[in-house]
Amino acid sequence: LRSLEEVDEEVFELVEREKERQFTSIELIASENFASCAIMDCLGSCLTNKYSEGLPGKRYYGGNEIIDQIENLCKARALEAYGLDPSEWGCNVQPYSGSPANFAVYTALLKPHDRIMGLDLPSGGHLTHGFYTLDKKTMNRKAVSATSVYFESLPYKVHPETGLIDFEELDKLATVFKPALIVCGGSAYPRDWDYAKFRQIADANGSLLMMDMAHISGLVAAKEANNPFEFCDVVTTTTHKSLRGPRAGMIFFKKDARGFEDAINNAVFPALQGGPHEHQIAGIAVQLKETMTDSYKAYIKQVKANIAALGARLVDDYGYSLATGGTDNHLVLWDLRPAGITGSKVEKICDVCQITLNKNAVPGDISALSPGGVRIGAPAMTTRGLVEADFVEVADLLHEAVQLALKIQDSMTSKKLVDFAKALDGHPEVAALKDKV
Ligand code: PLP
Repeated sequence: LRSLEEVDEEVFELVEREKERQFTSIELIASENFASCAIMDCLGSCLTNKYSEGLPGKRYYGGNEIIDQIENLCKARALEAYGLDPSEWGCNVQPYSGSPANFAVYTALLKPHDRIMGLDLPSGGHLTHGFYTLDKKTMNRKAVSATSVYFESLPYKVHPETGLIDFEELDKLATVFKPALIVCGGSAYPRDWDYAKFRQIADANGSLLMMDMAHISGLVAAKEANNPFEFCDVVTTTTHKSLRGPRAGMIFFKKDARGFEDAINNAVFPALQGGPHEHQIAGIAVQLKETMTDSYKAYIKQVKANIAALGARLVDDYGYSLATGGTDNHLVLWDLRPAGITGSKVEKICDVCQITLNKNAVPGDISALSPGGVRIGAPAMTTRGLVEADFVEVADLLHEAVQLALKIQDSMTSKKLVDFAKALDGHPEVAALKDKV
């Protein structure tokens, strides 16, 4: 019963330093958030001690009476949070995280080497939707994602000019490729999803339709985004992004004669996972209760207002460019190519100044290795209480960071990122900007 500080000073120190970093920096990673103390209580609770392989009422270990109640409560709240009728939809709350949730769906509904179409990684998709790279030695394509190793994947893309999903190309490719599954959803797509269009293409080609709503599951719960459940066969999500729960995953499936329920439950366990993480599941339950409150709905509205305010400041007042021209959700993709600097350099200078964001490919980028932009999200800082005026100030700081990065870049002969990083070290203007942040 001794505390972490007493047992292991070294790890304690590191945790304290990370806490300090998280709470003193401006956190703009679009996939991150701050879990509540109530969730932290679940994660640090005795539930972490328990094995509960199987489903509530059908476990492989004894002592699961209370665990069953926790998992059933979580499942009931998951359906309620998304307005789903339990006779039509079921859910599995055991996936350890978003990637295992997606792979469980593929394992359940596809045969090895079946065909999948998901949004390409450089277009804003996620690795688990299928991704290849070019092997420079053989000049053959090389599967990076297990989705592309075990299934045949043909990614679709956004239009290089508009940045919007290129439905015309998707339609053409799907007609020839005949995917068993089309995946919508992404990690860096600033616009809402046209599920009716995806459904139309899926139906025309006999494909199942899955939405990975990981990034926007909070927006969907708050009815601040289109509803994927109206059109999709399966919906997956992480629980730690805009939803603001613990790190975990969930799968929602249609309950009908196609037998998704058993297939998905069996894919999660015993096919892919062992004992579920009931401490996470309790945390999801707590968060789902919160998503049904007025204050959570107000939070999500504020997330959208905040990122819109930041985007408008960058475009209208400073003349920068955003992919697709703006945003419908919680993130913007800032295209830095017209400004003359790479996303990597901007990420680097922001890091030094304690502004956390990530470099990101933008529509039309030739190489994903040197991304032309950065991704900025509002969920975390909105949790910390920032409103539109604060996000305008954040945009001002970002503008200063970019202008300083350009100035430093212009003063250098080397174009290398390592040399740029060295030049930031001890630079008086960078130090001044850090102090301001
Ligand atoms: N799906 C999408 C759309 C994501 O953005 C992510 C993570 O960023 C994942 C799945 C994977 O989630 P995890 O990192 O929890 O495995």
